[in-house]
Amino acid sequence: MSGTDSGTDAADALYERLVAFVGRSAATAGTGRDPVNLPMIRHWCEAMGDTHPAYTGPDAVAPPTMLQAWTMGGLSGHTDRSSAYEELFALLDGAGYTSVVATDCEQEYLRPLRPGDEIGFDTVIESVSERKTTKLGTGHFVTTRTDVRAGGELAGTHRFRILKYAPAARPSPKAEKPRRPRPVVNRDNAGFWEGVAGHRLLIQRCGECASLRFPWLPGCAECGSREWDTVEASGEGTVYSYVVMHHPAFPAFDPPYAVGLIELAEGVRMISNVVGVPYDKVRIGMPVRLEFLRVDEELELPVFRAGGED
Ligand SMILES: [Zn+2]
Repeated sequence: MSGTDSGTDAADALYERLVAFVGRSAATAGTGRDPVNLPMIRHWCEAMGDTHPAYTGPDAVAPPTMLQAWTMGGLSGHTDRSSAYEELFALLDGAGYTSVVATDCEQEYLRPLRPGDEIGFDTVIESVSERKTTKLGTGHFVTTRTDVRAGGELAGTHRFRILKYAPAARPSPKAEKPRRPRPVVNRDNAGFWEGVAGHRLLIQRCGECASLRFPWLPGCAECGSREWDTVEASGEGTVYSYVVMHHPAFPAFDPPYAVGLIELAEGVRMISNVVGVPYDKVRIGMPVRLEFLRVDEELELPVFRAGGED
């Protein structure tokens, strides 16, 4: 047999052992360190810049996205973890998948959490993927699902996915210029990137109160409605503000360069690059016009050109 075949056999044997962890508990009968409470809600809202009135006052509810916060163990951790997650990690480490990166999380909300709610939760290892090769390297995705309860009643679920991988060999520093970071496309913003692919800059419009919003979000910050459609931006805008990046130097970028906060003619603002003028000639109030920059074979980005017709 060739080396490749025995390598595949080893991978299959590992996968069988990994899949045996699916359904095992990673935390049983966990309890939140504090009941849902207004000080944590207030700090969260301040950090997020969320001024929605539902999160203050005598009838306050917790922002739904705080779901995970109520289950976190803090620096001292939880005492209710099972060993299954550690065993799974040790198995992956032993197979050479020593690096880890969090890839995404998904949450579902079944009922609002209110101050005073006592939080309980259970976490299971929900799935382990087959061996996948990503740009980071080859490894396995591991998804855990945490069911969060308030007063014994299911209030929401939190899915958290990581990739345990063996880092790909890095190209030598001079070999190739690093590529710009890829956008994280998810179900909340996929429509925006589909628009970009068709050279259309799409702004979300609330189906209830018609407020425009950008960047894309699942709900309206004005009225809370989750109904929406889109309007296509005309492409006209002005530089509302900007910064010039000198430091830190990110591998794919050549500092100094200007990062603009562009106010579109429709009234919403977006962060983008200003092109067509040197970085030190960008000015607040400067008229700019949308165009699409082909960054590499798989990435196009909306950018804004200053300086007239060309
Ligand atoms: Zn609205």
